Amino acid sequence: MSDIIVGIDLGTTNSAVAIVQDGVPRILSKGDQKIIPSVVGYSKQGGWLVGRAALNQYTLDPDNTVRSIKRDMGSDRRVTLGGREFTPQEISAFILRELKAIAEENLGQTVTKAVITVPAYFTNAQRQATKEAGEIAGLEVVRIINEPTAAALAYGLDHEDDKMALVYDLGGGTFDVSLVEMTGGVVEVRASHGDTHLGGDDFDDRLAEQAHQIFSQKHQVSLQDNRLAMARLNRAAEAAKVHLSDFPEANIREEYLAEQEAIPLHLEMKITRAEFEDLTKDLLARTTASMEKVLTDAELEIEDLDRVLLVGGSTRMPAVWDLVSDFTQLEPDAEINPDEVVALGAAVQAAIIAGQPVDSILVDVTPYSLGIEAATMVGGQIIPDIYSILIRRNTTIPVTKEQVFRTLYPDQDAVQVKVYQGEAPIASANTLLDEFLIDGLKSAGRGQHPTVNVRFDFDVNGMLHVTAIDPVSGNRKNVSVQATQARLTPHEIASARERLSEMDMFDNFDEDDDDDDVIELTADAPATIDKETKALLQRAKSLLEANKLTTEQAEQLSSLVDQVMQASNQGELDELSEELLDMLFELE
Ligand code: AMP
Repeated sequence: MSDIIVGIDLGTTNSAVAIVQDGVPRILSKGDQKIIPSVVGYSKQGGWLVGRAALNQYTLDPDNTVRSIKRDMGSDRRVTLGGREFTPQEISAFILRELKAIAEENLGQTVTKAVITVPAYFTNAQRQATKEAGEIAGLEVVRIINEPTAAALAYGLDHEDDKMALVYDLGGGTFDVSLVEMTGGVVEVRASHGDTHLGGDDFDDRLAEQAHQIFSQKHQVSLQDNRLAMARLNRAAEAAKVHLSDFPEANIREEYLAEQEAIPLHLEMKITRAEFEDLTKDLLARTTASMEKVLTDAELEIEDLDRVLLVGGSTRMPAVWDLVSDFTQLEPDAEINPDEVVALGAAVQAAIIAGQPVDSILVDVTPYSLGIEAATMVGGQIIPDIYSILIRRNTTIPVTKEQVFRTLYPDQDAVQVKVYQGEAPIASANTLLDEFLIDGLKSAGRGQHPTVNVRFDFDVNGMLHVTAIDPVSGNRKNVSVQATQARLTPHEIASARERLSEMDMFDNFDEDDDDDDVIELTADAPATIDKETKALLQRAKSLLEANKLTTEQAEQLSSLVDQVMQASNQGELDELSEELLDMLFELE
């Protein structure tokens, strides 16, 4: 028992410790905290603070608080805290000591060994400094591994062969992208590139700047020299940013931010996700340049990629998902909590070293996308039956997502909300879970279309709670339905995704950038497969997704679908389509 080895992600912004117990990798937490801010402080009362307590002090006393020490590892920089000078190793050791204590508290035994992760670009000096930090904290660092390697281990990619994965890691203060190759059970970093000064903090800064501008214009006061007010703005901006990952808009409200002639001044602003994305789009564009660079360095093409892993808390921003999937033309893996995946991977490595068996990490996900029916206007004509997804398939549950929908007409006061599960862009081709009417909608002003906020809450028991809210009248309606859920390993999810994507005949609808109101529906199918056959395939897919068939029936249907899609000539296709029609008739 004494030979236990923990896995540690010693991050720039946050750190975490994990272990493999009974074959299952899991994070060791401190109360409700699974990740610990990588912050160290010396309090006015004369005590040492690490983690959340230190982060809280940062707002009040930034001079006696140290953040992002990881950037200085391997350098000669010294930090003064509580009147004493410290090396970066010593500051990091405070964090490691805290993680060691968390592990010991959880496990009820002394912990003396660890695997610690570092960025793939870390030099020998930086790796050595990380090892020394461990030793100062009383930990023998049995191995230093690269963060992208750890992420690949957490996803079980060491069981795959001859595969190439792109690991996109956007944390709080750093960004890196690596190409990881799997050969014969060995995970190796082929190339890595990044920006050590790009991360979630930059997104917070942008939003805080905007808030500052609004505040100073309104009150004619600058907060530039008011450190405390600026720190409060930053925290409020971060909270709003996190909110915008799940909701279409956020309110920033900070009371008594400053005062003028003894009158308190408050900040109040509203920002939509679209505005936030516009404000920060150049930051994300920088990550595209890094993805291009890493591919060039490794002499690879986008088509050579088999998997994409999202790592780091900032990858929860929907714009990141969109950017990475557009760039790689792959559906990224994000099932394992992006804040925890590196520590979990370090624990997997630790278990391998200790000769312990390791099972795959299990995650609860939505196996199908969930959304509602919407319509759009194209050149003055209404196109109905469009599937608008709120929760994408393979999203880890529990999850909450909200979107705003506009009514088609200014005087429309009721909307039928139809809730679907499935992947087809045509709403009615998916499985209808439930529907309800919300009426008495009010317009926010003359000539304005009333709006409805639709919110999906998917809980741990697989219940989907759908709420429609009229933001003007406050009127709300809700339903709860049992939706399909699954407990799968990321590896199983990836294979299921591959199988599904082969069937995604219609999964291709593009938004026309030139005209906001126009959505074009394009069907991407081989020329020989006509509209009728496509509809048959879609029916087959919906039937398979509804999970109501016996295994034998599902296999027969899948096999026939495969044959139809691979038919080499028209005669064969017609015959098989006929057969499919018969089978559907029987099964439905
Ligand atoms: P990490 O260093 O990987 O722990 O990432 C920390 C960064 O992730 C911070 O900048 C957080 O603000 C950011 N972050 C965490 N959760 C979210 C979220 N839901 N949406 C956007 N950013 C997030």
